[in-house]
Amino acid sequence: MAREPAKPASSGSARRVCFFDLGSQHERIRADVAARMERVCAHRQFINGPEVAELEDRLTALAGVRECVAVASGTDALLIALLAEDIGPGDAVFIPALTYIATAGAVRLSGAQPVCVDIRADTLNMDAGDLAGRVRAVRDAGNYRPRAVVPVDLFGLPADYSAIGAVAREHGLFVLADAAQSLGGAAGDRPVGSLADATATSFYPTKPLGCYGDGGALFTDDPARAGRWRAIRVHGFPDGAKLSASRVGLNGRLDTLQAAVLLAKLPVFEAERARREAIARAYDRGLSAGVKLQVVADDRRSARAVYTLRHPRRDDLRAALDGAGIDTAVYYPLAVHQHEAYADLAPDGGLPVAEAAAREVLSLPLHSELDDKQVERVIRAVTTSLAGPEGED
Ligand SMILES: *Cc1c(COP(=O)(O)O)cnc(C)c1O
Repeated sequence: MAREPAKPASSGSARRVCFFDLGSQHERIRADVAARMERVCAHRQFINGPEVAELEDRLTALAGVRECVAVASGTDALLIALLAEDIGPGDAVFIPALTYIATAGAVRLSGAQPVCVDIRADTLNMDAGDLAGRVRAVRDAGNYRPRAVVPVDLFGLPADYSAIGAVAREHGLFVLADAAQSLGGAAGDRPVGSLADATATSFYPTKPLGCYGDGGALFTDDPARAGRWRAIRVHGFPDGAKLSASRVGLNGRLDTLQAAVLLAKLPVFEAERARREAIARAYDRGLSAGVKLQVVADDRRSARAVYTLRHPRRDDLRAALDGAGIDTAVYYPLAVHQHEAYADLAPDGGLPVAEAAAREVLSLPLHSELDDKQVERVIRAVTTSLAGPEGED
């Protein structure tokens, strides 16, 4: 994808504001990435090379936990964590109704039954009150045994782990954080990675810490749990052993080349997050009068993976921004139970807050390469569109 230099600021001819800009991000670290990849090609330990162990070591520090196990994707991270607790057929696993569909897929692949929980209108994360009600309903119905809850840190904002943790303790649920979007976030002084019994993250290229392909990681403070993850990651063979598989596993390893890329990305990780934070705050200031925003409490640090607003005429707003040269995305147009493969999860009465959000959410460009002029342009385009004639498209 060739990139043109910025043209003078007449809005008609200005270059498009891209949703992500992986090209410019790569330019900043190109030499380090190349050198590290060259080293991997020289030692040729493409699987389980020293870069993987080095990365795991660096990430334990970032996440504030004792154990990190690098895996092949965020989806594998979730699946491995469920398998390691022997969660499967007959078990109920509670997930938020608005998330990337991988959260639901991992639960289904484990053999367990996903149960959708509604979200909060302010944070767009799992509603702990609704969770408590649905856990009791599942327990009373008696078809499935409540076993685990998978809160999702949507758009980078850590879920309400203290309220969810209280429900989990009452019912003996394992808490697995889906932190695919939130690495680098925190609640109080506790970083994402240390907020739940286990935490799964993703290194998909556009996540806060992205590699150049697929990747993911798991975090915990429990060495025995991490040992099970390491075994499941390689077909169920315990560390070092290649004779007898002690569990059912899969091929869920992170490539050494991807670990090398991630090591080159770590030095700019916090600076990129800080830049996204500044942009998100500028959006908040410029837009709060006209649209509903995801509320980030003062004691939370969002990883600022995605900036999402809500508006009842979302599609009109999206078309107007497209006309003004601004790329947007809809995360997510469907709640989990509105997908064909998961229609059986729709509860009586639906999940009204998640369904309303799916109709109204619109995500704006948020990446470290945006300059202040582009941010201003996005804010102006949104406010101009909102002020325009009703029904305009
Ligand atoms: C991206 C994502 C995943 C899946 O991660 P992959 O690395 O793409 O497998 C899971 N859950 C959420 C919330 C995500 O955003």
